[in-house]
Order: sequence, then C-alpha cells, then structure tokens
Amino acid sequence: QPPVGVFALQGDVREHLAVLTALGADARPVRRPEELEQVAGLVIPGGESSVMDKLSRLFGLRDPLQQRIAAGMPVYGTCAGLIMLAERLQDGIAGQQTLGGLDIVARRNAFGTQSDSFETDLHIPALGDPPVHAVFIRAPVVEAVGDQVAVLARLEGGDIVAVEQGALLATAFHPEIAHEDRFHRRFLEHVAARA
Ligand code: GLN
Repeated sequence: QPPVGVFALQGDVREHLAVLTALGADARPVRRPEELEQVAGLVIPGGESSVMDKLSRLFGLRDPLQQRIAAGMPVYGTCAGLIMLAERLQDGIAGQQTLGGLDIVARRNAFGTQSDSFETDLHIPALGDPPVHAVFIRAPVVEAVGDQVAVLARLEGGDIVAVEQGALLATAFHPEIAHEDRFHRRFLEHVAARA
C-alpha cells in the first residue's frame, strides 16, 4: 500500500494517524506540498475549518490540494474536514473558503449552543453492524447534496451527516475518537483501488 497522509496544519491529527497506523497503513503528517506529493490519499481532520483554510494558503498547500482532489485523490474529511471538502459553505467566517470537491452544501456549527456537542448511535447501511457511535463536536451538517453524492448517514431528524462521492468520503462526526475504524478502512480501500 502506498503511503497516506493526514493534513497536519491544524486539528486532531494524532488521532487519525493512530487509527490509520493501527490498520497497517504507512500514515504521515502532511504540512508541505512536498509531503503531499508523497501520499496517495489524505485525511483532513476535525478542528477549525477557518483556521485550516488560512493555514493551507499560508503554507502553499491550498492549490496543490485542490489539484490533487480534482485529479481523483481519495480524501476522507471529518467535521472541519467535511467543511473543507464542501463545494459550498454556509455560516463560514468572512472570507472563508473551502477546497471543494464534494458537491454538497455544508452548514458550519449547525447544532447551536445547547447541543454543541453530543453523541449518538447511527445505523449506517453501507457499514453494516454494529451501529456507529458518532461523536459530534460543534459539528457541521450537510444541507444539500448533488446527484453524484451518496448519503451514507442521517440523524433521526433527517440531517445528513455522512456522504461519499467517488473517492471522497466525509463525516460530520469523529470516528477517530470513538474506536471506530470502518470509515478509515473504507478510505484505505479507495486508496488501494486507485493504486
Ligand atoms: N466548528 C468547527 C469548524 O467550523 C468544526 C468542529 C470540529 O471539527 N470538531 O470548522
């Protein structure tokens, strides 16, 4: 298997590296364009998407990232990572940009103050049993999806919280802090399929 990367300018990088490494992957932090060139897939972690946006431009990663995404590199985004992958963003800070790639509208900080953070079990047909224990931390929601996007999971109220489009996978929640490795496995399958 070729090496895979975790976008490492901001966010819960270490947790993702740990899950990927436990699955046998050669997983490396990516902070510079030269490091991005070495990897065949990328995880964008949870954190703060507006900061990720600024830092990716400051470190010269934004353009190469967009080029790799357009060229079909598998990417898995969690939470802020989902926001980074969204073609369109609602409730971003002034001037905030995303990388795009996923034909979705993401709404940032969608769950107000009272339920800023919550956990729930989600039945996700694409992953089978057992249900996924999903941890939401100031999470976004997917407001709308294009017709190339598969909806993998919804909350009981109908909110879309996991999507896939080709080799792009995104969850509004954080499997990497919930002993849940099936999304990372799926990401690695996309990488293997393209190797
Ligand atoms: N609220 C954060 C953002 O806007 C995302 C939170 C998270 O990644 N846990 O990017």
